[in-house]
Amino acid sequence: MNKEAKIYVAGHRGMVGSAICRRLKANGYNNIIIRTSSELDLRNQQAVQEFFANERPDYVFLAAAKVGGIHANNTFRAEFLYDNLMIEANIIHTAYLHQVTKLMFLGSSCIYPKLAPQPLREDYLLTGPLEQTNEPYAIAKIAGIKLCEAYRDQYSCNFISVMPTNLYGYNDNYDLNNSHVLPALIRKFHEAKENGSNEVVVWGTGSPMREFLFADDLADACLYLMENYNERELVNIGTGEDISIKELALLVKEVTGFEGELVFDSTKPDGTPRKLMDVSKLHNTGFKHKVELREGIKLAYEDFKQKHTVPAL
Ligand code: GDP
Repeated sequence: MNKEAKIYVAGHRGMVGSAICRRLKANGYNNIIIRTSSELDLRNQQAVQEFFANERPDYVFLAAAKVGGIHANNTFRAEFLYDNLMIEANIIHTAYLHQVTKLMFLGSSCIYPKLAPQPLREDYLLTGPLEQTNEPYAIAKIAGIKLCEAYRDQYSCNFISVMPTNLYGYNDNYDLNNSHVLPALIRKFHEAKENGSNEVVVWGTGSPMREFLFADDLADACLYLMENYNERELVNIGTGEDISIKELALLVKEVTGFEGELVFDSTKPDGTPRKLMDVSKLHNTGFKHKVELREGIKLAYEDFKQKHTVPAL
């Protein structure tokens, strides 16, 4: 990728897209194209085709998606499938039509079967049934991978796919109904502390295991792979280390300085029991994450405090 290349970052307002833009700029890439969702509805085929015809990007980071935590995925099942399929199909097909030099599609660790052996290797894709709570999202993401593979096979497009683990970081979504577990816990512990409450409710049993990667580390990996990786096979992006939700809650409790109790609400779903990524392929390319979990939670918590005011009781 030369520094003058025209780079389209789809989803630049999200946590991942904004981290990719920051990293691109830091590395001297300044010809970045972005559009908000109100300027360009990526579900609209004609709008996407007009945008590509006018802008003619050389590189595309496909980080636009409808995303959310376990509750949002399980509730808005139609939108998680439809919106994501449309976004991917429109961008990938149009990138082919306009001969984009290279495209990176960002998937998710939830594409792997619910009960796949751990850690999750890239070749476990489509070897068993998916987790029910996020099946629509996973099916859409699998379709995105298959689109990249199909356009590569049939038309020799250099479209690659990466599968990030659970992410957190700057510009995360802190809406308690739609967010993922880490931002939800940061907010819950912070507000409980500020409001003098003596308990925080953690969904599920606390026993599921999850792996967490700081979004800026993901962005580094994406740039690195965009510059260096040209294979058909997907690449997992994670840390290779996981933690139980209970341990995670205790860590967030410590970072936020909350002194009350944890209460587990087992009426809420646990989701997949474990989804630890096998990151040997990523590590073999020479990339390793930098931000450890405790440090990353501190950075995310500072970002949260700057941007969010606590509602009065
Ligand atoms: P998942 O990785 O797709 O299951 O998505 P999440 O990040 O939403 O949830 C991960 C795990 O954290 C699940 O077992 C949730 O039940 C659990 N969890 C505990 N408390 C919360 C919370 O306040 N919000 C969310 N989203 N998940 C929580």
